[in-house]
Amino acid sequence: MYANVIVDISHEKLDKTFQYLVPAGLENEIEPGVCVEIPFGNRKITGYVVEITENPEFDVDKIKPLCNIVKGSVAVEASLVALASWIRKNYGATMNQALKTVIPVKKSVKEVTKRTIYLNIDDIKARAQLALCEAKHQKAKARLLRELIEKKELEYSVVTGELKISTAAINSLEESGFITIKSATEYRKPINNTENEVYDKVLNEQQQAVVDAVETDIAAGKKNRVFLIKGVTGSGKTEVYMELIDKCVKRGQQAIVLIPEIALTYQTAMRFYVRFKDRVTIMNSKLSPGERYDQFKRAKNGDIDIMIGPRSALFTPFSNLGLIIIDEEHETSYKSESVPRYHARETAIEYAKMNDAVVVLGSATPSVDSYYKAKKGEYRLLELKTRVADKPLPECEIVDMRTELKNGNRSILSERLQQLIQDRLDKKQQIILFINRRGIAGFMSCRSCGYVVKCPHCDVSLSQHAQGRMICHYCGYEQPAPKICPKCGSKYISGFKAGTQKIEEMINMRFPTAGTIRMDYDTTRKKDSYEKILQAFRNHEADILIGTQMIVKGHDFPDVTLVGVLAADMSLNVNDYRAAERTFQILTQAIGRAGRGRYPGNAIIQTYEPEHFAIQTAKEQAYEAFYDKEIEYRKMLRYPPVWNMLVLLITSDGQEEVQNRSEDVAKLIESIISQSEKKIQMIGPADAGISKINDVYRKVIYIKTEQYETLVSIKDFVDKSIRDNIKYKKISLQFDFNPVNGF
Ligand code: ADP
Ligand code: ZN
Ligand code: ZN
Repeated sequence: MYANVIVDISHEKLDKTFQYLVPAGLENEIEPGVCVEIPFGNRKITGYVVEITENPEFDVDKIKPLCNIVKGSVAVEASLVALASWIRKNYGATMNQALKTVIPVKKSVKEVTKRTIYLNIDDIKARAQLALCEAKHQKAKARLLRELIEKKELEYSVVTGELKISTAAINSLEESGFITIKSATEYRKPINNTENEVYDKVLNEQQQAVVDAVETDIAAGKKNRVFLIKGVTGSGKTEVYMELIDKCVKRGQQAIVLIPEIALTYQTAMRFYVRFKDRVTIMNSKLSPGERYDQFKRAKNGDIDIMIGPRSALFTPFSNLGLIIIDEEHETSYKSESVPRYHARETAIEYAKMNDAVVVLGSATPSVDSYYKAKKGEYRLLELKTRVADKPLPECEIVDMRTELKNGNRSILSERLQQLIQDRLDKKQQIILFINRRGIAGFMSCRSCGYVVKCPHCDVSLSQHAQGRMICHYCGYEQPAPKICPKCGSKYISGFKAGTQKIEEMINMRFPTAGTIRMDYDTTRKKDSYEKILQAFRNHEADILIGTQMIVKGHDFPDVTLVGVLAADMSLNVNDYRAAERTFQILTQAIGRAGRGRYPGNAIIQTYEPEHFAIQTAKEQAYEAFYDKEIEYRKMLRYPPVWNMLVLLITSDGQEEVQNRSEDVAKLIESIISQSEKKIQMIGPADAGISKINDVYRKVIYIKTEQYETLVSIKDFVDKSIRDNIKYKKISLQFDFNPVNGF
């Protein structure tokens, strides 16, 4: 038997399998996914078995035997190895990088074991032995026997601790066969709830209809189906997911629930926990390596049925996966920002196909991609049109900030918003003020010469932080804020603190009695601080929550009856074809935070572009109208999802090098285009949106064409052409298919 092995070194030159002989005695243990030690050149390295075969690929005498299985390594499921191979092909990566992606837990972490001591003889014999020990003045042994006769079993740590019995005495009794010591693994559990809340919700009619639709298809044997649940905010999607999971588990299958990392809070986890108790667990970056490893083991051992987590939770090693749910499916965080740049939605659909499982996507504002596929019939569209218990959607108004200025209001808060804030404060209801930007701190510039304080290593401006610090959000570079302009010496250099801090200051001035709480980069750097801020707000420790996009994602604050959106158009003015989609989604989500509890809500959208269709349709919560307009634009400009797009990111620490090699790569691509019968468009090479990060220069080339496969073959061609070519030694090249973020 031979094992084809991928070596654990991510280098293009080594991105192929190497064949080894499986030594006698290991035949039963070596299988695809196992981590092995192999001779490589004159050293020993590790690798992953991806295939077992009886066919030698070259001279049998020259095939070396592999050494052994790596101790403490974690084997990958065979289906995940197949998935890794798909990821490699469809997104561009070495097989080793792809394997690393599907193994969220690489090494075993010491398991916590609990040892228990039992009597190994019956009561009569034990009493006889006890008498003997007493006669011999073996006090420790006698004490242990006496306790065991009474309690039947004792925890090892209690025996050595409180009972003060030496391990020598314990060992001696064990060797004589009077007692036995049993060890069992005690898994670390990230959710622990002692409250015994009972799950008591009954689905309403429209929720039940969605569940029935999915279940009917499953019962009819329609496997590999993808469902898209489009349900307005607060329509009870989570309850629908839980019902579907319940049915899946009762069929003896397991379920994976993907949610954006930021939405995975204690509150979300608890909703699932109340219903599924110990059969559910979570996986996220906040868990310790030990906790992560244990969740992985619990899944492998069949101790849990449901895994909740961000995109990497997709790779949970379940034995009989039946259902994958992707909540807030429009979120861009489902796309990996490092190689392989896989999209969890597409990868989940592929993985479900391999496992004959069903995929359920859910969102109040489906991605244009998914809605397009649903309209074409690739996904089945299901809808939840009203909020639970017919709670009305918030009433929404747009305020034109240009008119405010004309009327002499120079504040960042419009008259109308101030008026409503006062009203809610009087009523003791809560308010969310949302600044529509991703960064949080402002930059600094000179009002005499226009100089902007930038990072010396990156092509971005530095952000202002507390205590006069300036920080680069790309490389972490830090410096104190300059007092005079470094370029012209003017003292009129100051910050555009349009950030959360500035708004909090303004609110505190205008509404001195209101309690405010701020959520941003500075206040959420500590572990758990994010959770604590949300909890404090939920407990009414503040009246107003101020923050950026992180505060509007999926949270449920029943007492919030007013949402103010400041600078709604900020997300429109970015150089990205998805800007309108992003803006529509974030505004709809933000508006949806209001009026989820007893009282109806209001929302105010402040903007300088009140006529923009993304803002108009968000105000009306008119998804269809937004989509129709947006898809027209995508069709016209041949953007995804109508066509597919591949971006090549070429980087190097030499400015000239990156320029010349990018032009060479573009020529390579032109040669394919000229020979191809397909319509293919290429744009570039051009500077990336951020042309330098950490002293590395960045260029991009965009390629658009209708068929995804055409792009895959272009990727393969470019990859092959430059891989062994010494000319390209100093550059690095990355591929990104249908990118969700600009470069
Ligand atoms: P969504 O995920 O669509 O925003 P949720 O599932 O969070 O909506 O539901 C909104 C609120 O309504 C939650 O507090 C939830 O507990 C409640 N809810 C949902 N469905 C029901 C139901 N059938 N009966 C009672 N309450 C429900
Ligand atoms: Zn200046
Ligand atoms: Zn920097």
